[in-house]
Amino acid sequence: MNLAAKMPAILEIRTPTGKVYLLEGERRSILVDALNDWYENKIIRSIQRRGSDSLDKVRLILLTHGHLDHFGGAPGLKRKLGCMIAIHELDAEGPRSGRNLPLATRNAWEKITKPFVSRITAEPFEPDFTLEGDEGDLSDYGIHAKWVRTPGHTPGSISVVFPGQTAIVGDLVVGRFNAPRKPAYPLWVKDPQEIKDSVSRVLSYSPKTLLSGHGGPLDADDVRKFFLG
Ligand SMILES: [Zn+2]
Ligand SMILES: [Zn+2]
Repeated sequence: MNLAAKMPAILEIRTPTGKVYLLEGERRSILVDALNDWYENKIIRSIQRRGSDSLDKVRLILLTHGHLDHFGGAPGLKRKLGCMIAIHELDAEGPRSGRNLPLATRNAWEKITKPFVSRITAEPFEPDFTLEGDEGDLSDYGIHAKWVRTPGHTPGSISVVFPGQTAIVGDLVVGRFNAPRKPAYPLWVKDPQEIKDSVSRVLSYSPKTLLSGHGGPLDADDVRKFFLG
């Protein structure tokens, strides 16, 4: 299989608080993540700029995990795009409740901010379908890529992997606040070893770059050195 020929164009839509990625296949597209609902118009405009049929092409919003800054905008975007929404079943409680999944705290900053972050709400919704198990294929949605479960930030976090090319990792790995091209641990991690195991899983597909929900793009070698030594 010639993977290079089948790589979709990947459009990064950047905002002050995070990023979403549009995977543009020949006839269908997938939007990975949806940010908070206040970015709806920006996301729609960015997709629209790709061409007259670009909004119609989006058939799926694939959520990397059940945090509000990733799923909050999904129901509004769904209404405008007429597409489906999917998330891993282990994180589906986030969208269903319209709240963040329970947050693990490891440092003072997380302990101070947790009460505020836990209180934020968004429109609750039922995903059109949930992903189950540890991996799957996205070809049915027009994109030749795999999704793999990469827990650590949340139990049902997933990454979208293009073997030998790139991986979209959600909040498994983020860019440093002051050096966004350098890798860092995300917030709200219960067990750092779980992050390392998931990073190792992503790297086993030999991506050259990792695309994060916050910061990046990250060089795969930098990620390997930082997390795996
Ligand atoms: Zn998150
Ligand atoms: Zn996030």
